[in-house]
Amino acid sequence: MCGIVGYFGKRKASEILVDGLRRLEYRGYDSAGVACLHDGSIAVVKNPGKIKELRQKVSDTATLTMTESRMGIGHTRWATHGPPTEKNAHPHLDASGHFAMVHNGIIENYKDIRKGLASEGIECISDTDSEVLVQLISFLYKDNLEDAVSEALQKIKGTYGIVVMSDHEPGKLVVARCGSPIVIGLGKNETVIASDASAIIPHTRDAVYLEDYDMAVITEDGMEMCNLQRAPVSREVTEMDWDTGAAEKGEYEHFMLKEMFEQPQSIRNAIRGRLDYDMGTAVLSGLDFSARDAAQINRVLVVGCGTSMHAGMVGEYAIEEMAGVNAEVEQAAEFRYRNPLITPNDLVVAISQSGETADTLAAVREAKQKGAIVAGLCNVVGSTIARETGRGVYLHAGPEIGVASTKAFTCQVSVMLMMALKIARTRRMPRHDGIEFARWIQKLPDLVERVLAQNKAIKAVAQKYAKADNAFFIGRGYLFPVALEGALKLKEISYVHAEGYHAAELKHGPIALLEECTPVIALLNNIPGKDKTLGNAEECKARKAPVIAVVSEGDEGSADGFDDMIVIPDCPPAIAPVPTVVALQLLSYHIAAARGCEIDQPRNLAKSVTVE
Ligand code: GLU
Repeated sequence: MCGIVGYFGKRKASEILVDGLRRLEYRGYDSAGVACLHDGSIAVVKNPGKIKELRQKVSDTATLTMTESRMGIGHTRWATHGPPTEKNAHPHLDASGHFAMVHNGIIENYKDIRKGLASEGIECISDTDSEVLVQLISFLYKDNLEDAVSEALQKIKGTYGIVVMSDHEPGKLVVARCGSPIVIGLGKNETVIASDASAIIPHTRDAVYLEDYDMAVITEDGMEMCNLQRAPVSREVTEMDWDTGAAEKGEYEHFMLKEMFEQPQSIRNAIRGRLDYDMGTAVLSGLDFSARDAAQINRVLVVGCGTSMHAGMVGEYAIEEMAGVNAEVEQAAEFRYRNPLITPNDLVVAISQSGETADTLAAVREAKQKGAIVAGLCNVVGSTIARETGRGVYLHAGPEIGVASTKAFTCQVSVMLMMALKIARTRRMPRHDGIEFARWIQKLPDLVERVLAQNKAIKAVAQKYAKADNAFFIGRGYLFPVALEGALKLKEISYVHAEGYHAAELKHGPIALLEECTPVIALLNNIPGKDKTLGNAEECKARKAPVIAVVSEGDEGSADGFDDMIVIPDCPPAIAPVPTVVALQLLSYHIAAARGCEIDQPRNLAKSVTVE
């Protein structure tokens, strides 16, 4: 959450900062700001609203400090403390105006610190938790910025990714992290700091990922790193591999639309080289365990939040059904606080697109502490969860910018299916079944393409129901998580109140809400239990709710008597979630578009949820 950018170099800082913020806008977009330092003074421009408006405001600010500066910091906010106003936007200045700071995270003891500062006569002007930190740094400052920063950070409880500068020491940026991601790109004669790679790749591929309690001091002479106690640390320089173009919208109207249409390719990337059609298994080298290790696994616990949790549910079903291994999914925050029972042969799989999800990261740490084998399933290479788990599988979905996850979900499911296959082949699954399943995984990109080809027809259905204020998604078996995910997509981007239910559960309460204007999207694909779901859909119809029947190709008759139909290629139950969810993504997208919603940046949301 929130995007941080810092620049130190020879080019016009304000332009690089605003461009970086535009690339990070998906991380938070309620307000934004930049601060530039030039000729011994700091200039700040802030704005509640989008980066486009900030860009205008910055270009209208024709002061020398803004136009000539070669160093500065920027921030796009996802408010946690205080409304998204200009006053609360970052960068924050201390009372003297000599220190500027951007912060991502939450300072939990900010009230105590604020009281302490007040007793020294220092009053904070914003409602944020962040401001106390820059005030504290200024208060503690003697003659060295990094000393003051490290001293201040040792008094802080909570999470932070920060970049600080001061006109007392022009020519220096101090960066630190604990819990919030920071990447430092090392270019030729310049350094670019950001919350994630997308703001760095246009400038350089060489990057250093900070770890918790790391500090970096950037000056003309380069970068020096230390920990909070000021002991030197060194971190590897890694090469980032996403091409810059991947983070542009191209001819598509929205990132979400582009990313939905990228799914055949992203799934191809996720499965490339990972299926062994001869042995009928999956080769997931990053998991770093042999068939023998896999055979020892007693139980698989999948942890995640939101869409990732839904992908985990599909994995849970596949692992239990195919491998006969006990599998469970748990909301990551619940896992952490519930004191779960873990045994050494438990495999904990943490799923997070960004690899920075705070609750999932906390669950990883708890699982490691309890001695589980922990694996990460992340999209962002080098992200904290990927690094801390040390083993896992990258999705290779490419950058996902749209806040509502699409291609990451289908890649997560594809990888979970491969993981299920790998574990299953060390157990009861015979080789020929393994080969057949591997072939079905290989067909996923094709199946998705066939759903995408129906974009126009799905758009027509969407337009018919675009005015509905409530909707239900029902499914069972492998399609239950898909019903949950379909409802989540619709809520996220269209603000339609949507609920995903197990088809059998509807009559235990929610059916009371059905009326003529409440569409029910019934997932009636050919899987075990379809006939029961068909009966549940009839129950909805009997209560006058319009039913959109999602059926398998060749089984169109199942949609008879219902209001609309979407046809999904016929495939085995474990495979069906992927093509089916793509139809629901398109449906949600077109409903949101018809309602005139801000699809890539829905209100109140942010892409990478780095607060608990
Ligand atoms: N907690 C800070 C605020 O509300 C930072 C939020 C963010 O990470 O965007 O300003």
